[in-house]
Amino acid sequence: MDSETVLPIKELNHRLERLHEISRTLSASSDLEAILQSLISAASELTSSELSSILELEKDEEQLYFLAMPKIHQETLKTVKVPLETSVAGWVFQNGQPFLVLDASSEPRHFKGADLATNIVTRSLMAVPIIYLGETLGVLEVVNKTEQAHYTEEDLLILETIASQAAIAIQNNRMMNKAKNSQDQITQLDRMKSGFIAIASHELRTPLGLILGHATFLREVVEPEYKPQMDIIVRNGLRLKEIIDDLAKMDNAQRGVASVHARPISIKRVIEEVMDSFYQEAKQKGLTMCSNVPQDDLLVEGDSTKVAIALSNLVKNAITFTNSGGRIFIIAESIPGFVKTSVIDDGIGIPPKDLVHIFERFYQVESHLTRKHGGMGLGLSVAKVMVEMHGGRIWAESVEGKGSKFTFLLPIKTGQADAASQVLIS
Ligand code: ADP
Repeated sequence: MDSETVLPIKELNHRLERLHEISRTLSASSDLEAILQSLISAASELTSSELSSILELEKDEEQLYFLAMPKIHQETLKTVKVPLETSVAGWVFQNGQPFLVLDASSEPRHFKGADLATNIVTRSLMAVPIIYLGETLGVLEVVNKTEQAHYTEEDLLILETIASQAAIAIQNNRMMNKAKNSQDQITQLDRMKSGFIAIASHELRTPLGLILGHATFLREVVEPEYKPQMDIIVRNGLRLKEIIDDLAKMDNAQRGVASVHARPISIKRVIEEVMDSFYQEAKQKGLTMCSNVPQDDLLVEGDSTKVAIALSNLVKNAITFTNSGGRIFIIAESIPGFVKTSVIDDGIGIPPKDLVHIFERFYQVESHLTRKHGGMGLGLSVAKVMVEMHGGRIWAESVEGKGSKFTFLLPIKTGQADAASQVLIS
């Protein structure tokens, strides 16, 4: 082996250390500009060049611009555009191959615009493509090997190694920008959706209130033969009001507008009130409804209106999805730190594939078009929000054709949010 071409061990170690160092920079920082600066300074140092730069394709895709360059030339090179068709960098970008220029004065492809801007005379030049998964992202160049020397195979290898680091840095940055843009879009869409729900529910509420008020009045004064029609109007108006209220509740909770006004409440009382409010409906459908609640009051710190909404939605579903002759059972008991309430029915049950989704907003087991029951698929998601606002949790168990059991836990004291997830479902 020719001893002159072999690098001294010390020099080799230095190069390896430097390459290792830039790999570390790459994984330790997300600042693209800083990473590229350290890559070009390593490129010029390790190939003994006067300067190094990175070029990227302009948005119009017709020319390249300087993405990274030595700080002293930043102002001048910022405005220089490098044509794709008549430059070495353009050739490298289009062909995805390295290019070596030993004498720039006799290379017709050499683009002189950068020399003119920086007052540097390019003598020699080496450029390699920056490639990520087969796509050329840019070009890494080094200019003017010191002491009039020629670029070697070794220089090319080093430059290609640094270019692959640059490819990762540029690609990471693109992905991060993409992810951020998507996130911004989602936030924007979510804001628009919340705005729409808030406006729609607010704007619908007032005319609906008027319709309901007048319809209720008319129901009392019309001839008896028209009463059934008036009943239908009032009943459906009330149903519409429930849907609008559900949308508003979900939206308030999601925007963090809703809050729990915690004070000691008796779960026993809430259960009694909810059962009273559904007594007629259950009876009309031929269902029996009973409860098993211990004599003590089962106090929790919470907001009775919100707990009542959660429980009402469960009882309403139990009535809706249980056939005539069926039974609904509400149990409450105290377990360490929590009060546990379950609504059990022997109704139609829920298939396992749906059971995992039923607490999602707008989810319904039957298609909305074919189902016999009303509803918007919001009842359970509202119940979940109400329970979770208390730091509690809710879940469902069900066997298709046999019945369902919905259970929620409420912490006896507020501020036990995390503890609820530790309690075993049993
Ligand atoms: P909706 O108001 O449309 O009923 P929910 O969020 O309250 O929406 O419930 C979602 C779906 O879960 C319902 O459409 C129904 O298919 C199913 N479901 C809820 N409770 C029961 C139950 N007790 N028995 C059987 N299916 C139920």
